Amino acid sequence: MTDPQVYLLDHGSLVIDRSQVLWHFDIGTPVRFPVYSVLIKHKDAVIIYDTGFDMEHVQKVLPFELPEQTDDQTMIGALKLAGVTPSDVDMVINSHFHFDHVGGNKHFTHATTVVHKEEIRHLRAPEPFEHLGYSDKSFDSTAKYKVISGDDYELLPGIRLFETPGHTAGHYSMLIEMKKSRSMLFAGDAAYTIESLEKEVIAGFHLDPVASVESIRRLKYLAKVHDADLFPSHDMVPFVDWKKAPASYGG
Ligand SMILES: [Zn+2]
Repeated sequence: MTDPQVYLLDHGSLVIDRSQVLWHFDIGTPVRFPVYSVLIKHKDAVIIYDTGFDMEHVQKVLPFELPEQTDDQTMIGALKLAGVTPSDVDMVINSHFHFDHVGGNKHFTHATTVVHKEEIRHLRAPEPFEHLGYSDKSFDSTAKYKVISGDDYELLPGIRLFETPGHTAGHYSMLIEMKKSRSMLFAGDAAYTIESLEKEVIAGFHLDPVASVESIRRLKYLAKVHDADLFPSHDMVPFVDWKKAPASYGG
């Protein structure tokens, strides 16, 4: 069996304060960070994990995050680099439903959107401090949901979801098992950066800080036992060196 082919789709960048990347560190220091999604061509289905941000939404609701996105970095443009159109995608899985992870979901109305039951509850009834995070609900009325729960959920053979709550209630990280190269573990926002992992410092945005710390520790454990490379969600330093579409991993 060949390994799945994995494309990292570059969706541009946003700016937040470093104290939101690493809670309480360096208050007043803006940081520009990347936003990406993961397209997987698996023998049984085409899957996308996270879908970036929608430029119009961010300009309207969060213009202070100074969004930058070229035509190639929109969902349609980035998919084209991987030789795919939205109708080719069978399944959408979001690490969580924050606006910078769901911006392209609205393009996949025909696909199945897999979501943790706690995440969909928070999208629809967020805590007061979660309102901006869950501000892009553009996909909610048209998505075909498959609501799931539980840990070590096998999405397809070799593609597994692990619960990593804390940043949000129903957060999933994703492991892609490879035979011919190193497996890939996508943290989602359970770890924004390599520094978060090393120092075990959580992001400023979170629902439960203690659970967030436990999820960081869990990710490091999972990477070790599965012999996987760990990909944080918003770290410009490793991101510039990763292969982005049209290049790919696995296959
Ligand atoms: Zn988030």
